[in-house]
Amino acid sequence: MITGKNYIGNVLTSVGENIFKTFNPEQNKENNWLFAEATKIEINKAVELATEAFKVYKTISGNRKSDFLNEIANQVLLLGDELQEVYCLESGLTKERFLGERTRTLFQLRSFADLIKEGSWVEATIDVGNTERKPNSKPDLRKLNIPLGPVVVFGASNFPLAYSTAGGDTASALASGCPVIVKSHPMHAGTGELVASAIIKAAEITKMPNGIFSNLNSSGIEVGQLLVKHPLVKAAGFTGSINGGRALLNLASKRKEPIPVFAEMGSVNPVVLLPNALKLKAETWAKTYANSITLGSGQFCTNPGLILGLKSEGLSTFIQNLAEEIVKIEPSCMLHPNIIGAYETKKNIVVNEEGVSTVSAAKEKTGVNYGRQLVTTVNGKTFLNNPTLHQEVFGPFSLVVQCEDIEELKEIISKLEGQLTGTIISEDNEVKNYDEIVLALQNRVGRLIFNGVSTGVEVCDAMVHGGPYPASTDSRFTAVGVNSIKRWVRPFSFQNWPNELLPNELKNENPLGILRNINGVKTSEKID
Ligand code: NAP
Repeated sequence: MITGKNYIGNVLTSVGENIFKTFNPEQNKENNWLFAEATKIEINKAVELATEAFKVYKTISGNRKSDFLNEIANQVLLLGDELQEVYCLESGLTKERFLGERTRTLFQLRSFADLIKEGSWVEATIDVGNTERKPNSKPDLRKLNIPLGPVVVFGASNFPLAYSTAGGDTASALASGCPVIVKSHPMHAGTGELVASAIIKAAEITKMPNGIFSNLNSSGIEVGQLLVKHPLVKAAGFTGSINGGRALLNLASKRKEPIPVFAEMGSVNPVVLLPNALKLKAETWAKTYANSITLGSGQFCTNPGLILGLKSEGLSTFIQNLAEEIVKIEPSCMLHPNIIGAYETKKNIVVNEEGVSTVSAAKEKTGVNYGRQLVTTVNGKTFLNNPTLHQEVFGPFSLVVQCEDIEELKEIISKLEGQLTGTIISEDNEVKNYDEIVLALQNRVGRLIFNGVSTGVEVCDAMVHGGPYPASTDSRFTAVGVNSIKRWVRPFSFQNWPNELLPNELKNENPLGILRNINGVKTSEKID
């Protein structure tokens, strides 16, 4: 049942007077539930509880934390139809999308549970001391990753489950040993509260300290700002707009003690169509891209918003086919009137820029909050000279840039802002002749895709979901896959520490049987 209250640790409270509702974009009306925005007192209480909980939580074994994460997955599943109903009412997303996103969320939780149960993720590194070394003895140094402390997680509008309350940021932070305070996304506060109730229940069942998790409602930017500024908060995770992510990064760096903000932000995900691929398969690729551009009404950070090709008959055929294919696809509901409002504004800005022409637009009459797809085109020189055209238009939109020659294509790629992904469409080994293009693209993105689409982000160990700024605020880390745990830890060394007082990961006996680096060699052996 949705109460509209905040979870401050295990307790539901609502002392604030700022009340708001979520919105059903499919029916174009407000939902009935009333949510109370968290007050400053509630925010402070949540952070203080998290700080206390951290003292205990960081000492809890990987096995017990793993049980906690698995139990969260069990409890989310037990929310059953109620979660599905609220998710759809608050997002306009379909039942199928709900099922897919829930599966992904549970998989993420269980992947982190497996990771910390096994234990080697702490990257234990031991340089055994040598008192005989001349002229100076060598100290014994033992390093492992330790958690940072309370982490604030901002729910994402476009993933009410997988990148929100119990999503990737929360799962990875809890796995690392950090308490989490979620700043719930105002567009799906009910979904957030239900998932929060599952986390709290799991914490109680597995006897985790109170304060390990809190869920705070907000209807504006103040709650998030107070959290990021709070001196006891040690890091933040964010998915959303460049403006939002950048504002939080600035706030965090101005603190007396600056903290990291791992923000995953906008991206246009450039696609390079090589000439032979266009000559031979323009129709096929056009159909593939019509589907990818409109998938989920374009509301993915990996949406292909920029398509680059060399002027040719093949490129003209591709554009013509893309125009024909994309109008065949029925528009779908977007997340919220604000999202569709931003989409309409941004696409109109692009359309009205000099030199931009419309290739194909969806029919005018469609559902109220449905995103009408649009494909535009421009020549390479105009694109190069107009930074407005480089910006993300969040929705079912793409811009096809027609380049004069390979030099222009290379220049365009090298002048792009940082991106999550880059894609090369090539016929057989054609790509071999374009190594400079590949290198230029690699320099701007976090992941290169060969003959595919950027939409669809596999959750696995080798995934990099991040990239040079502004795709993310720190290109050294991924926001997806178990390696995302590294965002919430710091390396820590013990020097000449008594063996019996070391954490189990670093003891001579290797009681956890984990893989360690001992004197430069990876091994699960103990130290004699
Ligand atoms: P957003 O405006 O970036 O907001 C995301 C979250 O950050 C919200 O909870 C928001 O709080 C908070 N926030 C935003 N600006 C802030 C600031 N200056 N200080 C503190 N907190 C701040 O994104 P959105 O509302 O989810 O969607 C709006 C636009 O973001 C979309 O139209 C799209 O352009 C972009 N977006 C991009 C991606 C992507 O993956 N690239 C994903 C989602 C959205 P409040 O909502 O409480 O104000």
